[in-house]
Amino acid sequence: MTERTTAGPRIAILGGGIGGLSAAAFLHREGIAATVYEQAPRLAEVGAGLVIAPNAARQLRKLGALDDVRRHAVQLDTGWEFRRWADGRVLSSEDLAATCERLYGEHTYTAHRADLLAAIRSQVPAESVVLGHKCVGLELIGDAWRLRFAAGRSAEADVLIGADGVHSAVRDTMVGASPATYSGLCAFRALVPAERAPEFARRPAQTLWIGPGHHLVHYPVSAGAYVNLVAFAPAGDFASESWTATATVEEFLAEFHGWDERLTDLIRAAGTPGRWALLDRAPLTRWTEGGATLLGDTAHPMFPFFGQGAAQAIEDAAVLARCLSDGLDDPPEALRRYENLRIPRTTRLQTVSHGRSHINHLPDGPEQEAATFRLTPTGRTAIEQAAPGHVDAVRRLVFDTLTPDQVTQLTDLTGGLLTHLDDSLRAD
Ligand SMILES: Cc1cc2nc3c(=O)[nH]c(=O)nc-3n(C[C@H](O)[C@H](O)[C@H](O)COP(=O)(O)OP(=O)(O)OC[C@H]3O[C@@H](n4cnc5c(N)ncnc54)[C@H](O)[C@@H]3O)c2cc1C
Repeated sequence: MTERTTAGPRIAILGGGIGGLSAAAFLHREGIAATVYEQAPRLAEVGAGLVIAPNAARQLRKLGALDDVRRHAVQLDTGWEFRRWADGRVLSSEDLAATCERLYGEHTYTAHRADLLAAIRSQVPAESVVLGHKCVGLELIGDAWRLRFAAGRSAEADVLIGADGVHSAVRDTMVGASPATYSGLCAFRALVPAERAPEFARRPAQTLWIGPGHHLVHYPVSAGAYVNLVAFAPAGDFASESWTATATVEEFLAEFHGWDERLTDLIRAAGTPGRWALLDRAPLTRWTEGGATLLGDTAHPMFPFFGQGAAQAIEDAAVLARCLSDGLDDPPEALRRYENLRIPRTTRLQTVSHGRSHINHLPDGPEQEAATFRLTPTGRTAIEQAAPGHVDAVRRLVFDTLTPDQVTQLTDLTGGLLTHLDDSLRAD
């Protein structure tokens, strides 16, 4: 059933999420046919939003999907607006309207996941997506992979791309089970209809309320029709890493007891919240085995504190398609090249995303002030041009607690700077 490119390998992509469909779309753009096998009977994303950072927007533009995304998205004027938990005081923010496009070549958007998925899907030939195919087994027969699906169906492929998410069957078969450990944190997510949301939450702004042990992010999506909430809190004994697990508004609210009333009113207006346990997984050092490789959350599940998981899946797809296009006569070599280009970047993001869980959940005090100060343009400049003796207590803390390596990492990775792309992607 897997499509065969004229005189080329049969390419199967397991999983029709943002990563798998992006891979099919970028391959199609290179003139390479691939078949996506998705377990769900129809393509759908959960009712939740996500941030589309400039690095993802750049790839979506190449794909021809950005105009479609923009029709349903919100272009942010303000990003990383950090507010204090108890009174909403703004600790720092970035003026994206003034700087984002100039610095990073694209704007930052927020979108409903379903709209992003639909825009990417529109770039994939309909016949390349096979729904209702849950993979239940994989075998390597000679140089080809046999995929076994529920209900006794099967397919063969010369190249297999595992894009089946955090609970991937492909990853476990290829590189062994990737043990997940309990992080102690979970995410609540919910949508609030715009007419029930206060004006401050309807602004084209990504706002992060930070406080002891918790933080909550909100931004408008669906061309402003909804406000998306995503909040992080201690998980207790909740351990379900699933998009379908739910919580109650009361449980969500209880986590933010005592926070600014404007925020708790916003939570009260939410529909049924989803709940997702954040599990820890160490970065993989290898994604490729012969003609099979991994992509997106399958390859590099990361904490969502930089809003980069889907963006990295889209970047993976762009690089993978380019590598296969350049090396279609030797797919294993092309896949190794893809892996070598991508692993350093995604490993870095997995690592720093992990670190932010501490920074976003600090109690009030100088360490929290210092952490948010580092995110401001002034803070970044100060870090770059550290001048001991000319700093107040907060700044001293910033300089004293950062090693030169950490400074490099922070200036490279905080805020919009995060959005710089690998040289491999720039070359396009
Ligand atoms: C709370 C939260 C907020 C986030 N916010 C952002 C954000 O703002 N910006 C951002 O860029 N990222 C964000 N992310 C990360 C982002 O959601 C993921 O990185 C992204 O969805 C990964 O896409 P994927 O295609 O790799 O995996 P998935 O979306 O998990 O897709 C996997 C697909 O494979 C299918 N599948 C699974 N098993 C099988 C099987 N056996 N057979 C056939 N099909 C199968 C599934 O049905 C699914 O369609 C966030 C994540 C969380 C948890």
